[in-house]
Amino acid sequence: MTATLIDGRAVAERLRERVAARTAELARHGVIPGLAVVLVGDDPASQVYVGSKTKQAAAAGLKHFDHRLPATASTSELIALVEQLNARSDVHGILVQLPLPAGVDSAAVLAVIDPAKDVDGFHAVNAGRLALGQDATVPCTPLGCLILIREATRELAGKRAVVVGRSNIVGKPMAQLLLQNDCTVTIAHSRTRDLPQLCREAEILVAAIGRPKAIAGDWIRTGAIVIDVGINRVAGPDGKNKLVGDVDFDAALSHAGAITPVPGGVGPMTIACLLMNTVNAAIRTRAGALGP
Ligand code: NDP
Repeated sequence: MTATLIDGRAVAERLRERVAARTAELARHGVIPGLAVVLVGDDPASQVYVGSKTKQAAAAGLKHFDHRLPATASTSELIALVEQLNARSDVHGILVQLPLPAGVDSAAVLAVIDPAKDVDGFHAVNAGRLALGQDATVPCTPLGCLILIREATRELAGKRAVVVGRSNIVGKPMAQLLLQNDCTVTIAHSRTRDLPQLCREAEILVAAIGRPKAIAGDWIRTGAIVIDVGINRVAGPDGKNKLVGDVDFDAALSHAGAITPVPGGVGPMTIACLLMNTVNAAIRTRAGALGP
């Protein structure tokens, strides 16, 4: 058996087309969704991510406002900037690129973002709403994973799902989304006992660990849907860096029913979901302005 590939690039492209269509519709009503991106310091990976986000936002017809601050920026400067962005009517989404430099209180900065503009879905209000099953802005990466899982199956109810990783930005919200979709969910982490056996029970396996090829092929249940969130840079045979996931992809192919590649799986979905969250925030603002 060889697993079907879940093509994140193609799914993300379709999502971006939907975002562009909704943006064009909003523009006909005089609203152009606006995304403010705050980048602090000169971390090369963050610069690449922010560059892709703003490029794709522009391509989908969104406005983007870039705020680049030096690595010496203080917590209070950042809080003041976020408060200004909260007050602007042309900014519907605010994204503070993480990680912030050491010395900045990231939690304090993120807490100031208006939950209605928190398009990353990291604010406690959105995390709480998600946990309560209420309308919430959902973090982009797990939202993208859910869309990819739905590409592979429409029947999630009752499925045994294992999420490996319990971070606030991927593992925990992923588990909440699967629970909302009536899966039976287990969250695993670095202290989990007998991870291989637990993974073998999973009909849906989401790996969000950050360890190259940590999930071996024979940990995967026959026919499972495998979503690999991991992005790990390792030296390839030619000495050049290449990206691999948290799953041993080649070994997993003969066990899984469907699997996301790295790159080309979850990665492209994250930005597409960010654009979707921004457009949805603009739609909610407009609905609020029109009244009930
Ligand atoms: P974190 O480092 O915040 O969390 C990693 C989680 O994995 C922790 O809960 C940790 O457990 C767990 N873990 C670590 N080692 C093991 C192990 N050996 N066995 C079981 N669990 C383990 O990472 P993130 O959630 O932010 O990201 C995870 C991966 O996803 C990274 O590779 C990251 O680059 C990638 N990523 C990809 C995105 C995309 O767009 N495709 C977006 C965001 C992240 P514990 O809590 O006990 O320490």
